[in-house]
Amino acid sequence: MKRLVLILGDQLDIDSPALKNIDSKIDQIIMIESANEAQHVWSHKAKIALFLSAMRHFAEGLKQLGLPLVYVQHSPKTITEELRSKIIDGKFTHLICIEPGEWRLKGAIEGLASELNLVLVMHEDAHFYCSHLKFKAWVANKKELRLEYFYRLMRKTHGILVDQDGNPEGGQWNFDRDNRKPFPKKGPGLIPAPALFEPDEISKAVLAEVEERYSDHPGSLLHFRWPVTRAQALEVLEGFVEHRLATFGIHEDAMWTDTPFGWHSLLSSSLNLKLLNPREVIDAVLVAWKKYDLELATVEGFIRQILGWREFVRGMYYLDMPQMALDNFYGHQNVLPAWYWTGKTKMSCMREAIGQTLQYGYAHHIQRLMVTGNFALLAEVLPKEVCDWYLAIYIDAIEWVELPNTAGMALFASGGRFTSKPYIASGAYIKRMSNYCDTCQYKPDIRFGEGACPVTNLYWNFLIKHRTQFESNPRTRLMTANLSRISEVDQQSIQVHAKGLLRDLHSL
Ligand SMILES: Cc1cc2nc3c(=O)[nH]c(=O)nc-3n(C[C@H](O)[C@H](O)[C@H](O)COP(=O)(O)OP(=O)(O)OC[C@H]3O[C@@H](n4cnc5c(N)ncnc54)[C@H](O)[C@@H]3O)c2cc1C
Ligand code: SF4
Repeated sequence: MKRLVLILGDQLDIDSPALKNIDSKIDQIIMIESANEAQHVWSHKAKIALFLSAMRHFAEGLKQLGLPLVYVQHSPKTITEELRSKIIDGKFTHLICIEPGEWRLKGAIEGLASELNLVLVMHEDAHFYCSHLKFKAWVANKKELRLEYFYRLMRKTHGILVDQDGNPEGGQWNFDRDNRKPFPKKGPGLIPAPALFEPDEISKAVLAEVEERYSDHPGSLLHFRWPVTRAQALEVLEGFVEHRLATFGIHEDAMWTDTPFGWHSLLSSSLNLKLLNPREVIDAVLVAWKKYDLELATVEGFIRQILGWREFVRGMYYLDMPQMALDNFYGHQNVLPAWYWTGKTKMSCMREAIGQTLQYGYAHHIQRLMVTGNFALLAEVLPKEVCDWYLAIYIDAIEWVELPNTAGMALFASGGRFTSKPYIASGAYIKRMSNYCDTCQYKPDIRFGEGACPVTNLYWNFLIKHRTQFESNPRTRLMTANLSRISEVDQQSIQVHAKGLLRDLHSL
């Protein structure tokens, strides 16, 4: 018996079941840097650097523990091709791994094991509360798959923010109404900085390599301060619960120029690389809640993101793949405007959200959903183009979490499969939630003609086109009621203006 233990770049957990009981006589651990994976989409330099640096730090840790590791740097092959040659050369009989997050890779590894007649031991990923099997059982024959009901079940199952009888803490499941306020008119004030890390020797070498090998990729490495080890990830968590959590909820959706992180946790990349387990994040938040007597609304709002959304989108991804990647409910076909890759647009909101994305590889949820996502939907861009952009450009982007958020939530590409309505907004929303419009050459309240805000114009155009759909949904009916207040003549002018915008998206 000879066993090969595969550790993928987003499985950096020293307590992984795949690493239990390693016997150097028969076991070999393998980690693979695949250039092919980095180029699979045209990834942000910071995303490539984060993966490489975190992998190399993890590999150092394995070596220090004396574990038998083969670390393949810069393989031009795919992970599966590299594995195939290692398995054949080393005459391995067993392949041990954790279930990959990405559907395609899971299938490829299963295919390889059966092709080479290997015993495959694929452990469940312990970094989620809900297994695929349990998610499927919850779905059963439900007609409507909605986060809210799944989230309540998760709260009850895991005894989080519920009393002994399973009733929600504070008498309600959801405190959204208390959250989501804009920043004060004068701005966000002083926000305690998140923990950021000067690159060490390993990171410096990675940054230099990425700059050289991927010089034509988007994004900057100048601001690379992301956590690349478990110790650093724990520091980010501690800094968040100590200094930033208290005000997280209330300003969760607020946006402001030169405020790339707001009160957000910046934990997504560490959670997705498995440097942190969601259980320890939720436990830390619950401890801080009691210790500092924090508002329940902020604590519940944060826990919903992790125990609710993160688990829900992962469940939906595995349930609906590969169809999810092909979904295009509205049949949109436009090409993604080139300025999504450069930030060079006259629209201040898009310039800000994309600009910070190129600097840091980060934008918070509302920037992703209601700025870049909203615009891509209103501009009728082909979902595949938009999904490729999100997968490439965010440091925390891995397909299981990126695709359902982009295709399903932001673009409504899966229809109402797991969201209750399309998330669309006009410039009025962006004006209310940010200061972006103050420096914009467009005016958020002008619907067509000179100075018309493209977001506002395309919003009304979208409503006119899909009026019947929006009227038939109680959650969007009010939007069409507002549309009825716009005269027929003005509605025609909106459509004429929109036609021009949709034709010239690239020059906006
Ligand atoms: C179009 C679009 C694409 C997205 N792509 C990704 C992605 O590729 N990777 C990713 O991790 N998140 C993605 N998200 C979800 C969310 O925007 C990010 O998780 C969040 O902005 C990360 O920043 P943070 O850690 O500061 O999060 P916080 O706002 O502090 O939230 C805390 C944690 O909750 C989890 N979380 C919050 N919202 C979601 C959500 N909708 N789905 C899943 N987990 C969530 C994350 O783990 C996050 O770290 C996307 C959202 C949208 C609308
Ligand atoms: S006016 Fe319109 S385009 Fe300009 S920042 Fe506001 S919403 Fe964006």
